[in-house]
Amino acid sequence: MFVRVVGSLCQRVPSVLTRRSVMTKPNVVFVLGGPGAGKGTQCSKIVETYKCTHLSAGDLLREERCRAESKDGQLIDAYIKEGKIVPVEITINLLRKAMEETMQKDSSKSCFLIDGFPRNEDNLHGWTRVMDGKAKVKFVLFFDCGTEVCINRCLERGKSSGRTDDNRESLEKRIQTYQQSTRPIIQLYEKQGKVRTVDASRPVDEVFADVMDLLNKEGFLLN
Ligand code: UDP
Ligand code: MG
Repeated sequence: MFVRVVGSLCQRVPSVLTRRSVMTKPNVVFVLGGPGAGKGTQCSKIVETYKCTHLSAGDLLREERCRAESKDGQLIDAYIKEGKIVPVEITINLLRKAMEETMQKDSSKSCFLIDGFPRNEDNLHGWTRVMDGKAKVKFVLFFDCGTEVCINRCLERGKSSGRTDDNRESLEKRIQTYQQSTRPIIQLYEKQGKVRTVDASRPVDEVFADVMDLLNKEGFLLN
């Protein structure tokens, strides 16, 4: 006697990131640095030049904040204005989804620059919990820039960015969060020999020239 189970066999569709035998495991570069260090600007230039996808954790959170059906919109809004770090469950889901969507559309797109993450211990634990074994963190690209320069750049950007956190009050909190929570994460990766530092206090093109040297040495593929 046979029992027919055909219907149920097709129900569990594994996600792209768990279908390891079929898909390449994505390579990740975490891009860190203070607010205004130039992470977003440099990432845009990197993806113009190299085969890589830029995912900004901050941009994903801002998009989610604006999505009418989002249950997290208000929470995200409050955290961003206060320069605090959103609970990782929210951020990691947005990042995972964005990575999956990118690879579903084009499975050869397996290199990701994750900009502005992980920013604290909670972020790092969330990443490990969800992504360990599913993505490989190649290194941390650290845009090193003094506080004064960072503040001035953000205030300048604030004149046109429309960002609710590019004002002096939010900025002071963001800088504090960066010093207290993000620097220790960078130091942690430093101990593992995984930090590649660029002096980000110079003009965009000079910084990018150093970034290119670095990525070429790391074997990044040109577009
Ligand atoms: N943010 C967060 N988790 C992240 C990334 C960003 O909570 O993983 C929030 C946090 O409040 C931060 C804000 O989003 O201050 C802006 O982040 P973004 O990376 O856009 O700022 P940047 O450092 O580039 O100026
Ligand atoms: Mg940014």
